[in-house]
Amino acid sequence: MLDPAPDPASADRPASFPSARAILGLSAWCGLLAGWLEVGALILKKSTFDINRLYGMTRHFVWLIPLVDLGLFVGLGLALAIAARAWPRRGGWLTVRVLGALTFLPAVMVAFPQIYAVAWLLVLLGVSARIVVPLLERRASLFGRSVRFSLPVLAALVPCVAAAMLGAGRMPTGPTSDRPMPPPGSPNVLLLVMDTVAADHLGLYGYTRPTSPTLDELARLGVRFDDARAASSWTLPSHAAMFTGRWPHELSVGWVNPLDRKETTLAQYLGSRGYDTAGFVANTLYCAADSGLGRGFDAYHDYIFPRLTALKPAALVDRTVAGLQEVERFLEDRLDLDIFRPAVQRVWLAINGNRKDAATVNREFLGWLDRRGPDGRPFFAFLNYYDAHWPYQPPGLSIHRFGVPPRDPGESDLIQNWSSLDKKGLTESQIAFARDAYDDCVADLDEQIGRLVDELGRRGLRENTWLIVLADHGESFGEHEGVFCHGTSLYRTEVHVPLVIVPPSELKLPGLAGRHVAGTASLRDLAATVVHLAGVEDGSPFSGATLARFWNNLPAPDLGDAEGRALSEVVPYDPLDPAADRLIREPRWPLAALSDGEWTYIRREGEIREELFHVRVDAKESRNLAADPAARSTLERMRQLLGGLTAGPLTPGRFNP
Ligand SMILES: [Zn+2]
Repeated sequence: MLDPAPDPASADRPASFPSARAILGLSAWCGLLAGWLEVGALILKKSTFDINRLYGMTRHFVWLIPLVDLGLFVGLGLALAIAARAWPRRGGWLTVRVLGALTFLPAVMVAFPQIYAVAWLLVLLGVSARIVVPLLERRASLFGRSVRFSLPVLAALVPCVAAAMLGAGRMPTGPTSDRPMPPPGSPNVLLLVMDTVAADHLGLYGYTRPTSPTLDELARLGVRFDDARAASSWTLPSHAAMFTGRWPHELSVGWVNPLDRKETTLAQYLGSRGYDTAGFVANTLYCAADSGLGRGFDAYHDYIFPRLTALKPAALVDRTVAGLQEVERFLEDRLDLDIFRPAVQRVWLAINGNRKDAATVNREFLGWLDRRGPDGRPFFAFLNYYDAHWPYQPPGLSIHRFGVPPRDPGESDLIQNWSSLDKKGLTESQIAFARDAYDDCVADLDEQIGRLVDELGRRGLRENTWLIVLADHGESFGEHEGVFCHGTSLYRTEVHVPLVIVPPSELKLPGLAGRHVAGTASLRDLAATVVHLAGVEDGSPFSGATLARFWNNLPAPDLGDAEGRALSEVVPYDPLDPAADRLIREPRWPLAALSDGEWTYIRREGEIREELFHVRVDAKESRNLAADPAARSTLERMRQLLGGLTAGPLTPGRFNP
């Protein structure tokens, strides 16, 4: 049934024994077919019946998976060829049946991940041995010809798809580009998003630790917003609101839902007005291309591939590593055997990799600046830094400004597993340890931003670049009982964010440097702000109004109830909830918060839970006045304002999980 190429040693072997060359050829064919089937199954599943529409992997999986499977199968083919030579009577028979079963294994693992891979393998071995291979053996010559014909096609598809994917990320720049040129003198806009940096952990906002010397300096050159509020308390809806000018409940985004194509994005709009646009993101959980946030950018850099991380998209690799971990845990828990732990951890790290640090994000951005075309277009660049996100491990692990390095495996585990850890029994000193580590990460990130700003200065780019530095949300450390991390509440700790806007140095705007804006501002207004600063707001599709209204004398925009107020929304996620996996797939009651700088009102529909804080005198939101008769009229007013902004109660059906 295989390659009929003559095998010089075949005379003294059974007629069905395939040559080593034939086994390798068949292995390569099976590997490529397995890869393409896996890619097809993945795309079909994500685009049709999977409730989780996020891929959680690089978009280059479309060619990486066939390439990885090819390599795995050829490696296996070598082993099988040796086995077949050593065991001629049954080796050939077994080889083709094993390859037949493995060809379909990745696709079924992807389609039905809830079933054990080993169970699938046994089923497929049976099907392969009993049905598929005997069927093909009856038409051996036709099958052999089909393999020889299709092998080059399956192989050639890999570089073709890779070239198409890599080429799609290139910028359409140069004099031949048919895009319009922006008005002469249009400035660049550089948006730096510090993922998970709470305003209250920055020296800039009065924190007792000097975590933000760079931001302090930038604020002296531009405008600091004292009460900037994120539209949500976690990454995807917060970024999506910034990029579209819409509130989260108006968008498709959720814990398992990307930003869809309904709304125009900031990058799309600026690109259509002639800007070069590029994104460089370190948060691959919820900012990578599969999140939809990359839509409209000419270039979008998300995943990097240190060590063996390019292998991870392939289900055979990912599931094997997961299986190794399970076996290791079993040995450790049941037999108290932990000698394999370091080796398994090393394998896991090699496949999953480290996070992308700020220095890498900066390097990618500066490299992109170097490669830009010579036609003098302005740029809009978006950088997302992930350094302050859990686990709080500064890239320079030896640098600890405020805390100390983990002193024992317990403290290492505390940091490593912080998000999923049951924090009920934590001591104050354990929480302080995590907070110190977080502050170290924040300060480290601030330093890296300083280096980027210095480099931009050396390149003369500060002269014509608006610099916007902000965070997508903050971080909780138990300031409210049981509330940690983010995406879990709408308290100040999670939605009060830094916001600094620095004008191009060549713009002489009197009274701007060192200005503080006390009024409440929502990051929902970011899109309207950027198109205003870029000078292309005519025809802009973005709701909200430019934040420049806080420092120049623009006519007051008609923002209705949104003027001077910020709306934040979240469907809270609790990783400790045993039903979290099920709940995330079902509509749940969202939280909505309205803040005007004087009062904050947080409401949950369903069982109706209301909180009202007089933040002017109770900045920590520690006294809920919702049931206080003296605050009755305020409560009524905030209820009405919130209902107006959300156009009625936020029911689960109006909000994506
Ligand atoms: Zn985030």
